[in-house]
Amino acid sequence: MDTKAFKRSLQQSDNYHRKGFGHETEVMGTMNTEYQSSLIQKIRENNYQWQEGDVTIKLAEAFGFCWGVERAVAMAYETRQHFPQEKIWITNEIIHNPSVNQRLLEMNVGFIEVVNGNKDFSVVEAGDVVILPAFGASVTEMQLLNDKGCTIVDTTCPWVSKVWNSVEKHKKKDYTSIIHGKYRHEETVATSSFAGTYLVVLNLKEAQYVCDYILNGGNKEEFLDKFKNAHSEGFDPDKDLVRLGIANQTTMLKSETEQIGKLFETTMLKKYGPTELNHHFMSFNTICDATQERQDAMLSLVEEDVDLMVVIGGFNSSNTTHLQEIAIEKDIPSYHIDSEKRILSGNKIEHKPLEKEIEKKEDWLPDGKIVVGITSGASTPDKVVEAVIERIFEEKNARVLV
Ligand code: SF4
Repeated sequence: MDTKAFKRSLQQSDNYHRKGFGHETEVMGTMNTEYQSSLIQKIRENNYQWQEGDVTIKLAEAFGFCWGVERAVAMAYETRQHFPQEKIWITNEIIHNPSVNQRLLEMNVGFIEVVNGNKDFSVVEAGDVVILPAFGASVTEMQLLNDKGCTIVDTTCPWVSKVWNSVEKHKKKDYTSIIHGKYRHEETVATSSFAGTYLVVLNLKEAQYVCDYILNGGNKEEFLDKFKNAHSEGFDPDKDLVRLGIANQTTMLKSETEQIGKLFETTMLKKYGPTELNHHFMSFNTICDATQERQDAMLSLVEEDVDLMVVIGGFNSSNTTHLQEIAIEKDIPSYHIDSEKRILSGNKIEHKPLEKEIEKKEDWLPDGKIVVGITSGASTPDKVVEAVIERIFEEKNARVLV
């Protein structure tokens, strides 16, 4: 399919909206009440630190809602206001945050269910309004909704669209897109739907494997098995790794995306020489500013004297997980939670260690004076961060009073 032509025609349709509906001011007021926090504002103004009793909180200097997420949530609120009677659906969680998604459910916005691994669009009828989330939707989904005669409200973040444009450029010039991401993540699913030939690599280790194959050859079957589900149909590593373009899931670890880009560039340089490099490698900077700022702020925070870190965000949020990785790299005890409800009374916490299932930990807050570093993913409202801080104060102070 000519995905570029399809998108262009979709954007010209009266049933397609990618800007708000003129209710911004009203919606912003509601969102501020529902998601902003006066405590967090005070902590920001106090040089990102706050002390109560034995607990000092140190906040990362960039955390929480990014503008792409704020924009998507605001557009969803506006959609409800603009279409008060219509059935409204979202093709996925609008962002990876349980409290925001719960709020949308309360506003009678339905989520398309996943049945046996596939989204069940049978519930969507002509005339319904369908919101595409901040991390986008695949071209097949857009086409299906358009064919059904739905009104589409597209909240895809412009940073994500920028990556789609990159892979369109690769496709046009017959380059294979190497996408640094998680092949199952909705954003990468959407990005690969716009790509021609593609291969998704998860990390530097996988990228190294591909580069070794480019330079030294290898076992094709093993290669295809290793990247099962992570490449375009009919992908052939012997033919499709000759001209490469780099793209990324916008929420991956920035340093790793850069290293992967460099690794492929050096590999193609070794293989084809400096004069031919431009015919074999292309790269555009598509790392999103917000992801970058949050990761940089976390890198500074872990250099400070903190006893433990609390990382707040949805358990399926990629950018939150990467913040957690930074703390782990530094050997700082770190707890990924999705809301204050995970902090249980009696000095217990339910948290999700990296790449493991949720588990309970006892005595997680050490005795005496402690410094707790806090950050949150791009989908987490300040209100949730405030609630977590309040719970930590409550727990520690309760123990002091005993
Ligand atoms: S993290 Fe970046 S790409 Fe993702 S929604 Fe926010 S601004 Fe957009």
